[in-house]
Amino acid sequence: MTTQYIFSFQQGDGKNKALLGGKGANLCEMTQIGLNVPPGFVISTEACLDYLQHHRLPDGLMNDVRHHMQEIERTTGKTFGGKSQPLLVSVRSGSAISMPGMMDTILNLGLNRETLQDLIEATGDPRFGFDAYRRFIQLFGKVALGIPDEKFDAHFEEVKRQAGIKADVALDADHLKEISELFLQVVREETGRPFPEDVYEQLELAIKAVFDSWMGRRAVDYRREFRVTEKMANGTAANIVTMVFGNMGNDCATGVGFTRNPGTGANEMYGEYLVNAQGEDVVAGIRTPKPVHELAKEMPDLYRQLSELRNKLEQHYREAQDFEYTIERGVLYCLQTRNAKMNAAAMVRTSVEMVKEGLISKERALLRINPELLEQLLHPQLDPHNKIPPLAQGLPASPGAACGKCVFDADTAAMMGKAGEAVILLREETKPEDIHGFFAAQGILTSRGGKTSHAAVVARGMGKACVAGAEDIRVDVRSRRAQVGEVLIHEGDIITIDGGTGLIYLGEIPTVAPTVSEELQTLLGWADEYAELKVHANADTPEGAKKALAYGAAGIGLCRTERMFNAKERLPLVIDMILAEDPESRAAALEKLFPIQREDFVKLFTAMAPFPVTVRLLDPPMHEFLPSEHQLEDEIQALKKYETMIKGQRVTLETLSGHLTTLPAPFDLLNEEVISKAIAKKELMLKKVRDLYEVNPMLGHRGVRLGMSYPEIYKMQIRSVLEAAALCAQQGLKIAPEIMVPQVITAEELKRVKEYVAEVRQETETRYGLTLDFKFGTMIETVRACTRAGQLAELAEFFSFGTNDLTQATFSFSREDAENKFLPLYNEVGLLEDNPFEVLDVKGVGQLMKMTAEFGRHTRPGLKIGICGEQGGHPQSIRFCHHIKLDYVSCSAPRIPIARLAAAHAKLLEHEFFNHS
Ligand code: PEP
Ligand code: MG
Repeated sequence: MTTQYIFSFQQGDGKNKALLGGKGANLCEMTQIGLNVPPGFVISTEACLDYLQHHRLPDGLMNDVRHHMQEIERTTGKTFGGKSQPLLVSVRSGSAISMPGMMDTILNLGLNRETLQDLIEATGDPRFGFDAYRRFIQLFGKVALGIPDEKFDAHFEEVKRQAGIKADVALDADHLKEISELFLQVVREETGRPFPEDVYEQLELAIKAVFDSWMGRRAVDYRREFRVTEKMANGTAANIVTMVFGNMGNDCATGVGFTRNPGTGANEMYGEYLVNAQGEDVVAGIRTPKPVHELAKEMPDLYRQLSELRNKLEQHYREAQDFEYTIERGVLYCLQTRNAKMNAAAMVRTSVEMVKEGLISKERALLRINPELLEQLLHPQLDPHNKIPPLAQGLPASPGAACGKCVFDADTAAMMGKAGEAVILLREETKPEDIHGFFAAQGILTSRGGKTSHAAVVARGMGKACVAGAEDIRVDVRSRRAQVGEVLIHEGDIITIDGGTGLIYLGEIPTVAPTVSEELQTLLGWADEYAELKVHANADTPEGAKKALAYGAAGIGLCRTERMFNAKERLPLVIDMILAEDPESRAAALEKLFPIQREDFVKLFTAMAPFPVTVRLLDPPMHEFLPSEHQLEDEIQALKKYETMIKGQRVTLETLSGHLTTLPAPFDLLNEEVISKAIAKKELMLKKVRDLYEVNPMLGHRGVRLGMSYPEIYKMQIRSVLEAAALCAQQGLKIAPEIMVPQVITAEELKRVKEYVAEVRQETETRYGLTLDFKFGTMIETVRACTRAGQLAELAEFFSFGTNDLTQATFSFSREDAENKFLPLYNEVGLLEDNPFEVLDVKGVGQLMKMTAEFGRHTRPGLKIGICGEQGGHPQSIRFCHHIKLDYVSCSAPRIPIARLAAAHAKLLEHEFFNHS
């Protein structure tokens, strides 16, 4: 064997996670810094890949395994498969990226009928021996031989039932012996072969099973969901580790610890442990464990050792750790450590505190947080004024409030989730195979298990609300209902959970938006120190501007003026403007709109001063302001019927009461004349709608083309911007308005709008007696604008990439339809990696942007360039924008924190940028 596939913990390079997997690398590193790690070795990810490719272990691998096992035997004084002091090992998976619970692990390997007797003799504890044995047979049977858990569980429960026992700990040696025999029988029945007695055969099968689990459904789904690429993690290592036992008596324990609280980020030891138990009991949530501070009372010396271990881990890794430990007969062993998965609030708090403690640098504090994670902080919380009493309470395992239909299994959750339903997955306890249910659910609720149970860890990683261990809930999956005292919850009933308090409610509870914490402000302040890209907001109202400022926007990059037209009292004015048959009557309608828009801009500029506000002139096709043809037809028909009825009423009244000159209310108001006026107006609107009809309006009469057809509309908008600027200047406000033209294809269009601007500017400056300071620029949303960028830059002082339209234009995909039609398929089967309307298509649209920026800056070196399409708030897209040296990105307000952090990442990681072109 030429390639070295096996590395002892003394020898492996703790930095090489790609080769040794995260767990293996950490076991090596912990051993080498002197922590008490049980002896062992790592079989590399390269061995895994070789095995998966050739369907057999590399030649000579098992020989090498033997040599390393002999080394362990020398160190521990125990023998693998041996007569006395039998050596047992665990075989643990672990890839470069932590995928909790997604791959397989086998414990107690090395037990057979003979070694079991030896183990019992060596420990003098038959209960312990049989317990280890039955656990091993089940785990090995499941993982290495593919026998479902239920086959074993049925026997286990039956023995418990017959013995009248509820808790597993109450089972005695004889019960466990009986269970072991039943389990061996299950293996014989299911595989047609006896359980393997040869310990090296066990070991070989276990290594293969661990390697195979890399391609198991859970692991593959997880990698797809979390976009774990081959570059990030390729194959799993297999870690062979000497077993130590937390279940040899009451001086033994096992636990999971966090060096900081993963729910809040507080600098305190956090975690749970179980006395006289094996590690899987804590993680699987089979018994409800105790909080770690109780260990201080129960085993004070070990608690002190544990605190020391915690400090050493943090000092060494300079990162909050999630570690597993076992106490065997009073000796503390560290079995595993990895960077703790924490929710966003905890990540932010620990980042800020670790910098203040001098543990990490600001750069590290920023880089350790995935910008997308901040999205969680924008999660809704339950309305604090809610008066509805909770139905039950569990452990607050992952914060955030979630509400949905209760479902009892992962398949149903996945199915309903796919159909667009909000669901809460309610299980007794969850297992890794439930992962697809987690993806689909809004929140997870379990009736058993602690805050480090599978459900809690996975939900936290995903940023989903989770309440665990709500023991008052009795789940009956078969009858598809759960019971809390007298209350029954049927599948499909709406429930609300609060992962921050652990409370569970029947029905839907209102939620409130979250606020930006002081720590997040600090962190984002640091981000701004590093970032070169500025982050602006897409906002159209003073309220929107205030929200954007609260999130830290450094300007408004896109104010879509048409959104200002949609208010109830303004729409009739806009409609009058559209219905106008000639420039004069249009001018009259615009005259009414003008002061309203000017007032809007005064408010907007004032709110944002001194930051820039980019105002885009009217963009959407005009028919968007009118009702649909269908609606108008309906309304006209109704009006006509009404007109006939009113006429009938009048005739009736006249006939019966002689000579009526006026009609009683309401007929005096809604008389035939008024109704026929309404009909005439609606008919005019219908005619206009029909005139304006376009097969593809998004490629039609919109954007600057409106400004060419109706200069008076653009002039009114320009006038309201410039007069608002003048009014603000008169108040002594320092503002930075910008006028932006949408949908430009040729410099000629831009030149004409610029002439309108010059004309209005002169009038305004004369009227107000001052000189206006503002910028004039263009959106880049058409392919032709990209190719003509050099000419456009002669007129424009800034460019803003409208990547929604530019993506539409580059792909020839309708932005209105693609995402609901064929795009999901394209993403699913890998024809396209991402949805280009969400993630900037660097290879296509990005290349056009790069070229445009070069052309533009060639003409005008100081040209300011930004992006205001949806992709502007997406971290990966932001990295590209930094790479092509844009000046700013503009995105919706809630994405601003994400964009600010992403902009800092883009700068700090610029040397690693991989250009896809
Ligand atoms: C764009 O096209 O990217 C853009 C910001 O404009 P809108 O989405 O309003 O067309
Ligand atoms: Mg656009």
